Amino acid sequence: MKKAIIYLRVSTDEQVEKGFSLQAQRQECMEKAKELNCDEVKEFCDEGVSGSILERPMLLDALESIKKNPIDYFICYDPSRLSRNVSHQLILIDNIKKYKTKLIFVRSSFEDTAEGRFQITIMAAVDEYERARLKIRTELGKRAKACQKLLTHNPNIYGYIFDKETDRLKVNEEQAKVVEMMYEWLLKENIGPAKIADRLNEMKILSMRGKQWSRVSTCRVLKNYSYTGTLYIRRYDARDYKLNKFKKKEEKVRVIEKPRDQWIGIEIPKIIDKSTWEKAKLIIDKSKRIYKGGKETVFLLSGLLKCGRCGGTLSGKTVSKSKIVKNRYYCCTNKYNYNVAAAERCKSILFNAEELEDLIWNKVFPTLLNKAKIEKLYHSQCFINEEKGKADCSKRIEGLAVSELMKLLENHIDQMTVMKKNKILNNLIKEIIIEENRITIKALFPKCINSE
Ligand SMILES: [Zn+2]
Repeated sequence: MKKAIIYLRVSTDEQVEKGFSLQAQRQECMEKAKELNCDEVKEFCDEGVSGSILERPMLLDALESIKKNPIDYFICYDPSRLSRNVSHQLILIDNIKKYKTKLIFVRSSFEDTAEGRFQITIMAAVDEYERARLKIRTELGKRAKACQKLLTHNPNIYGYIFDKETDRLKVNEEQAKVVEMMYEWLLKENIGPAKIADRLNEMKILSMRGKQWSRVSTCRVLKNYSYTGTLYIRRYDARDYKLNKFKKKEEKVRVIEKPRDQWIGIEIPKIIDKSTWEKAKLIIDKSKRIYKGGKETVFLLSGLLKCGRCGGTLSGKTVSKSKIVKNRYYCCTNKYNYNVAAAERCKSILFNAEELEDLIWNKVFPTLLNKAKIEKLYHSQCFINEEKGKADCSKRIEGLAVSELMKLLENHIDQMTVMKKNKILNNLIKEIIIEENRITIKALFPKCINSE
């Protein structure tokens, strides 16, 4: 009656290589477990994770597991699966040993002696050296290719097909026609990216990834300089970017654009002429500014309102009357859903945002004046400044009379941004159903808010 853990790992690049496939690792590890008379085997598998990272989710789980329960064997295909880094390997070996678990490599024998450790260190060092050499060789190969004006990988641009044999792009005639059509709609019919997406979806034309078009994907086409006949490669430095998902927020790296003189321009078939592209760029840049400006207007009730007619979501909408006067409304998103025929769109009216916000806020605000609730909200950190701790807040609330609390709260609320107020409402209300002559508030604390 022996227990074993098998740990498998394959990185994104290795998934294509033979020998390291998960299937192969799993099979050999299981056989080893059988050989060692283990009748309880638990598998931990890190898929698509680089061996240079120590904090791999399943590896940590595996270590946690041997810490909790005595396990006889920790089985791993070979040392490189455990780690690609010499010092990490030794740390892991120590960790496994600490809990009296025996480390077994299927593909190489390992004895935890000075010699064994020396051997594993040498192996890891050789492995590291080999990988560094390979990396440099591939990098140099890519550079040489780029200098010959050849592509080093498929750039996945809508309107083109990547020819692997010649490392060049060919026009995808069908898609190229769509690209031309998009530029024409933008320039001649004055239709924006979002509506272009709607139109393409109506026509059942799919995007590069075989999905529906969105504002983002149409913008990508309308802004892509490559269509004028020059594709720039080696433009971004994306080193270590792939590892981001395993890093802490502050350690994440960004894709950086390299200096202009390092880019390499490759000639590709032209689909759009340069002056057309430039005109399109002007329009897109302008629409982006407007779009961004619109987005910055935060709506107090966003995320809360449901349409009483169709059950759709209501979202905030700003309508400019002049440069200064802007009217804000809430309206059902199905009212402007261009994916469906006009007859099927929701017929609900626009709701004046100011009026609706006053109405709801005045209804909900009194419910905030409840000691327990205030405390809860304090704890949910809606009300506290970052520098003041939770305990401090509780203590402050305890000593206050209701009238003082109210004043405190009013002050807080006055200083709050719409976004914060919106968060509070989201903490109190499940949804608000809006009909032309009736508003129903479904509260998370139904006793506190009278709905009507
Ligand atoms: Zn509706």
